[in-house]
Amino acid sequence: MKQLIESDLIIKDCSILTADFDIKDNQSIVIKNQTILAVDDAAAIRENYSSLSTMDGKGKLFMPGLVDSHMHTCQQLLKGRIADEYPMIWTRIMVPFESNLTEQDVQTSAQLSCLDMIKSGTTAFVDAGGTYMHQVAESAIQSGLRGTITCSTMNTGNQIPESMKATEEEALKRNVELFDAYHGSGEGRLNVWFSLRSIISCTPSLITKVFEKAKERNTGVQTHMNEYPNEISFCLENYQKRPFEFLESLQVLDSNFLSAHSILLSENEVDIIQNHGVKVAHCPISNAGKGIPKTPSLLQKGVSVGLGTDGAAHSGLSIFDEIKTFKSLMRAYWGTPIFDPKVMPAGNLLELATLGGARAMLQEDRFGTLEVGKKADLIGIDIDQPHIQPTHNLVNGLVESVNSTDVSDMIVNGEVLMKDREVLTMDEEKIMYESKLAMESMSKRAGI
Ligand SMILES: [Zn+2]
Repeated sequence: MKQLIESDLIIKDCSILTADFDIKDNQSIVIKNQTILAVDDAAAIRENYSSLSTMDGKGKLFMPGLVDSHMHTCQQLLKGRIADEYPMIWTRIMVPFESNLTEQDVQTSAQLSCLDMIKSGTTAFVDAGGTYMHQVAESAIQSGLRGTITCSTMNTGNQIPESMKATEEEALKRNVELFDAYHGSGEGRLNVWFSLRSIISCTPSLITKVFEKAKERNTGVQTHMNEYPNEISFCLENYQKRPFEFLESLQVLDSNFLSAHSILLSENEVDIIQNHGVKVAHCPISNAGKGIPKTPSLLQKGVSVGLGTDGAAHSGLSIFDEIKTFKSLMRAYWGTPIFDPKVMPAGNLLELATLGGARAMLQEDRFGTLEVGKKADLIGIDIDQPHIQPTHNLVNGLVESVNSTDVSDMIVNGEVLMKDREVLTMDEEKIMYESKLAMESMSKRAGI
């Protein structure tokens, strides 16, 4: 009798989104040691592989997990608070909010974020940083998700209260401490990067040192870039250079830099991004009120682009919502004036939301596609539903019809985090209860 190859988990008889962003039906996926061991016709897998644990994939599509390339776990308790507000949201709402967050609030907010991401199909995220980040690290480790976390780093700026600023020395120390404590933890799921909140809230000396320290440790740096007109104007006034030109002049740019937003770019800045291999993360819904990014041109030049939510305060944590919004924005702004209905096709959008995110996290060799040898970071989608089926083209359907609530299952690093929408690693009822209490008391304290 033929000897079967043993594995940890087999997902049987499903459809899959292939590494070249096409659909294949009647497939099975074999997972062993956190990794995708085989993907093949269901019959071939049955003949060659065994496993104690199986998952029925009938009526489901499995695809690489979505990646939120820019978000803030600490902003979960701001949901519904900033829509339709006049400027300055930063001074009136964000500053009192952030400076009134307790360590307990940060823990609750991080747990709610992880729960929300699991239920929305996001298997990996980049947290742009806040305070008490060790609580975010612990929540991410517990949740089973893959994450890149950073500290919020600011040491200057007239719109930032003194209480939120650190000295250069303190700022660097916090980044290094978080790195030493958590980089590579959670079986390698959690990475720690260095961070600058924005160019205008950090001195040139701090900026240079943050990049230096990150390079010494071979880790990444992330920053909010080219998001607001006042940021461009500050750089022009103080440095006679636009933000990316300024960073280039400091000789800090390299391919380990993740530039969130990157909306208000000159052509020269697009060239700088391309020349240094900088990674970009757009946040379509949050960015829509500030500008439309030059994504077709960035992609044409081979720049790596990922998608982010910018945290729950702007629109929730659904990357499926970001994909839909981004498609419409790209078509309306870049496609319509030149009559190009295909300015951002569905396959490209799915690539930005998966592999683009893995590139943003500097881990495209490890995850971001469903193929043999990559980490088993997968989501299952219940496609047998009236708003999805029948369809002429399920790749288009994933962009046009599928919502985050259609995500039925999640596997990260080979571990099942959600099965048939039941989250296995977190206590949903407890987190929801604590989150409501935390939002109430925080609102009173912060007066927002
Ligand atoms: Zn942000």
